[in-house]
Amino acid sequence: METTPISGKEIAKTLRAGLRDEISTWKTLGKRLPGLAAVLVGEYPPSRVYVASKQKACSEIGMESWLLHLPELATQAELHETLEKLNADEKVDGILLQLPLPKHLDPTLAMQVISPEKDVDGLHPVSLGRLVSGQPGFHPCTPAGVMHLLRSIDYSTAGKSALVLGRSAIVGKPMALLLSAKGVDATVTLAHSQTHDLPSLCKQADIVVAAIGMPEFVRGEWIKPGAVVIDVGINRLADGRIVGDVAYQECLAIARAITPVPGGVGPMTIAMLLKNTWESAKMRAGS
Ligand code: NDP
Repeated sequence: METTPISGKEIAKTLRAGLRDEISTWKTLGKRLPGLAAVLVGEYPPSRVYVASKQKACSEIGMESWLLHLPELATQAELHETLEKLNADEKVDGILLQLPLPKHLDPTLAMQVISPEKDVDGLHPVSLGRLVSGQPGFHPCTPAGVMHLLRSIDYSTAGKSALVLGRSAIVGKPMALLLSAKGVDATVTLAHSQTHDLPSLCKQADIVVAAIGMPEFVRGEWIKPGAVVIDVGINRLADGRIVGDVAYQECLAIARAITPVPGGVGPMTIAMLLKNTWESAKMRAGS
């Protein structure tokens, strides 16, 4: 079987181009530009890189962005005060709290301060509650990006068996909810570090989504012929290479379609953040 690589990079590019066109039309109507505010605490270098790339992505599609950079020793109260100000700021449509926070700060508490209407990361308990109960709301960006990839390859998920590896609140759990939602209709198994016999569970799955953070953990021989394999993992090896949670080369000629790392799910996460911010701007403008 020939395996189709799913280029998240290209799919995200198309999505961003569509957003840029919509925002440009919006601007010609004299409307306020949509805006995303990122809150960064401390100097953790990867976080600085992530925030900078999100800001660049905003400016490329004509969206405003602001960075609120708090010192490493900022208190929980100071962080909450910053978030409250952004909640009240009419120009701000989306608020992004860059994680991880310095150890002395509680991300769960901080996340709850963000207004659910500006929670474009989809991680507020209200957003997650809406996802569980099937109400409209923001979905966490990475699993939402995976769903966009599955739609873009015209793969019918109804009645298919899906295995989600990893049960984090950011990726695995919302992923399982989205795949099992009405209209998507996959039958989902959610696996984690205590799951027995992953290879045989994997072998039964039509869709495998790996999000565990273990380099090339999922082997080609675990994959059911014709399965769709989505690799969320991002792992840096000692030699500097970035690999996913799936042994990509081993899956070629077995899987029907597979996402590479890098260039698969990663670019979709930022694209979905932009999309959520744009949706928020339209909703807040009553459009
Ligand atoms: P977490 O560390 O929060 O969760 C990892 C999950 O994997 C846990 O549920 C854990 O199980 C499970 N796990 C760990 N080891 C095993 C194992 N041997 N067998 C089965 N399950 C296992 O990670 P995240 O969800 O935040 O991220 C997962 C990966 O995705 C990382 O590589 C991360 O960098 C990447 N990522 C990529 C994004 C993107 O944009 N492409 C965005 C977010 C994350 P247990 O609960 O039992 O401990």
